[in-house]
Amino acid sequence: PGGRFAGRLVVVTGAGSGIGRSTATLFAGLGAEVVVADIDIASARATAESIGPAAYPYGVDVSDEDAMDRFADWVVDEHGVPEIVVNNAGIGLAGAFVDTSAKQWRRVVDVNLLGVVNGCRAFAPRMIAARRGGHIVNIASAAAFTPSDLLPAYSTTKAAVLMLSESLRVELAAAGIGVSAICPGIVDTNITNTTRYAGVDELEEKRLRRQASAAYHKRNFPPERVAAQIVFAVEDNKAVVPVTPEAKLAHTAYR
Ligand code: NAD
Repeated sequence: PGGRFAGRLVVVTGAGSGIGRSTATLFAGLGAEVVVADIDIASARATAESIGPAAYPYGVDVSDEDAMDRFADWVVDEHGVPEIVVNNAGIGLAGAFVDTSAKQWRRVVDVNLLGVVNGCRAFAPRMIAARRGGHIVNIASAAAFTPSDLLPAYSTTKAAVLMLSESLRVELAAAGIGVSAICPGIVDTNITNTTRYAGVDELEEKRLRRQASAAYHKRNFPPERVAAQIVFAVEDNKAVVPVTPEAKLAHTAYR
């Protein structure tokens, strides 16, 4: 079958849910083969099954550098060098800076920043060597340029992803590889159900998650619309894509 992305291989991390799942589904709908990676292999398999035979599930923690290298080896051996890599996996961390522990900082930096670094380190050299150009899409957030007193650590990781993307865009231009940073505002996904809250007990964390979840749901911005912006970023080679007009309000749900 044809389609704008026929014959192209797309890798998406965090593709078991939300934006990653929608992105893998959209690329596949446009004719691409998709590698669907997630730390939760069951959700990766569920996404792949719903897409069909052109989707290949894989279980990997993006924060694990060696595992990401093995993942890239597997992709290249089994399916070839990807043209498009979407570094989407991420986690939430809310709460005041003064309540946030070093351990909590480390996990959110490991996943949100080093997870993207590991994805770029694993795939960019192989894409350069293949000499076919391509595109790397990193999912940052509106939080990357909107300070909030309730998302200091998360926002810091996303600002870092933004600058990593801008720097790589300059470096990889010579190889014909585009790099984009996508900056969504509030998107109705499962992220609110896993967001950790600093400085509160489990009960309060549950209450805050429910509250954020309801606020995100009410905002009614589906992940499919972010997926469409990701395809747009690849096709039009956009550098930074702020996704929602209300991106500035991204942090208000945490009040
Ligand atoms: P989600 O929780 O629905 O999906 C995230 C997926 O990533 C999950 O399937 C999860 O299992 C996976 N994941 C988590 N840690 C991982 C790891 N270490 N290795 C591999 N996979 C891992 O959330 P989402 O909203 O779809 O989030 C996707 C990206 O979008 C994240 O980077 C998030 O920060 C970003 N983002 C989300 C919003 C929003 O409002 N939902 C806004 C801006 C940016």
